[in-house]
Amino acid sequence: MKAEKKKIVKTIKIDVDKCNGCQACEVICSALHATPKYSSNNPARARIRVIRDPLADVYVPVYAGEYTAAECAGRDKYTIDGKEYDECAFCRASCPSRDFFKEPDSGLPLKCDMCESDPSLTEPMCVQWCLADALVYEEREEDVEEDVPQEDIELGLEALANAHGWQKVMDTVARMSKKD
Ligand code: SF4
Ligand code: SF4
Repeated sequence: MKAEKKKIVKTIKIDVDKCNGCQACEVICSALHATPKYSSNNPARARIRVIRDPLADVYVPVYAGEYTAAECAGRDKYTIDGKEYDECAFCRASCPSRDFFKEPDSGLPLKCDMCESDPSLTEPMCVQWCLADALVYEEREEDVEEDVPQEDIELGLEALANAHGWQKVMDTVARMSKKD
């Protein structure tokens, strides 16, 4: 059985034209995730990486995405303003084919967690520290359908049966099933 649920979708919009390659986002991300918090900073531990090409004035922030156990068979190669960038340069994956988005000491994959913390932040730290406004945070609410676990349905049905009687509950369920 499906149930409607509200879900908050978090997005960071990246405007590469505004990024100046200052790397403040990398610094603050690594500091936030240090143990204890803010005790050190090392951009190699950041969950965002800024591809920098100062001669071409190209700076592209890339967020760490999913870990992948095996490298993919195909490769991306970008050309921007006539300059060719390394294979997979803008890929978000933590992948065995390269050292990006891996914890330098342990090799464990790093993934952007949108600065999940308790209490939660008004905006992710990289957005707050980006004085060039190249990173803009947005939240929106979406309706999603979720599978309801069988035991929850049974508990729910039992509570309804206690209140209205089994026959009425069964008639209602039969009517709902026909609508599907
Ligand atoms: S803080 Fe902003 S301007 Fe600086 S490198 Fe990061 S995204 Fe670019
Ligand atoms: S949203 Fe938070 S975890 Fe993700 S890159 Fe920015 S500072 Fe790091």
